[in-house]
Amino acid sequence: MKVLAGTPELREIILAAKRGGLKVGLVPTMGALHEGHASLIRAAKINCDFLVVSIFVNPKQFGPAEDYNAYPRDLKKDLDLILPHGVDVVFTPEPAVMFPSGFSSNVEVDGGISEALCGKSRPGHFAGVATVVAKLFNLAQPDIAFFGAKDYQQQLIIKKMTVDLNFPVEIVTLPTIREQDGLAMSSRNAYLRPEERRAAGVIFKALQLAREEFKEKSPWEMKRRLKVFIENEPLAKIDYLELVDPETLTEATDGHKKVLVAAAVFVGKTRLIDNMVIEKK
Ligand code: AMP
Repeated sequence: MKVLAGTPELREIILAAKRGGLKVGLVPTMGALHEGHASLIRAAKINCDFLVVSIFVNPKQFGPAEDYNAYPRDLKKDLDLILPHGVDVVFTPEPAVMFPSGFSSNVEVDGGISEALCGKSRPGHFAGVATVVAKLFNLAQPDIAFFGAKDYQQQLIIKKMTVDLNFPVEIVTLPTIREQDGLAMSSRNAYLRPEERRAAGVIFKALQLAREEFKEKSPWEMKRRLKVFIENEPLAKIDYLELVDPETLTEATDGHKKVLVAAAVFVGKTRLIDNMVIEKK
């Protein structure tokens, strides 16, 4: 396993892999790796011949008041987690390598899928994500790139960007990996104090409630029920909770048989996101 921080080194090794006819896989991450990331790496290993995992805390996707500086960084621990998986390259660039002074380009996917949900709460976030992923696609030239359904809106935007900009990359989205109580695994869970960690279980419980009760309720009634349910937890404060069309992310109507329930909830100071696609059977 090679750990590379520079773009010329990455380009060279990718070129050699491509010349050898190997199918290249990419798993982009911000590090502080957990079992959710490991599930992407395992799937990538099965489906590709040459596997690149990137670890880059991308400054462009954090707002000025967000946790860029506090975001957990532990390269040694990350490398220990990656090592058993047969990864070929771990790409760990410094911010100045990805965004040298004078960098002035921006990849933005316009329209509703970027403006809804997290797009409202975190202006500029998805442009930051799309810009860095476009750069990673150009650098690693993956045949397949792997993303988690935990960041549902992100994978939708990446898929659109990939089609719009003709990246020859297949985007694979994999299910959310959860803790025992259902809390979606996230690097930010490390911020939670014990009582907050317990309270955070309310998010998955709300999603389960949606799955159970959606068949009897309109999206509007369901949304109201879920908001009351979450707000019943004193440590939780809703940023947004929406039932939307899974493709367009526009508000779900009574006619929708299949919806995405998406939530961002502050537990203490920590903002957690989660989602579930549910269907009326
Ligand atoms: P991050 O390091 O948080 O930027 O995440 C890197 C990739 O891992 C993204 O595609 C995420 O959607 C995915 N991911 C994060 N948490 C999970 C999880 N609990 N289950 C599955 N995938 C995840």
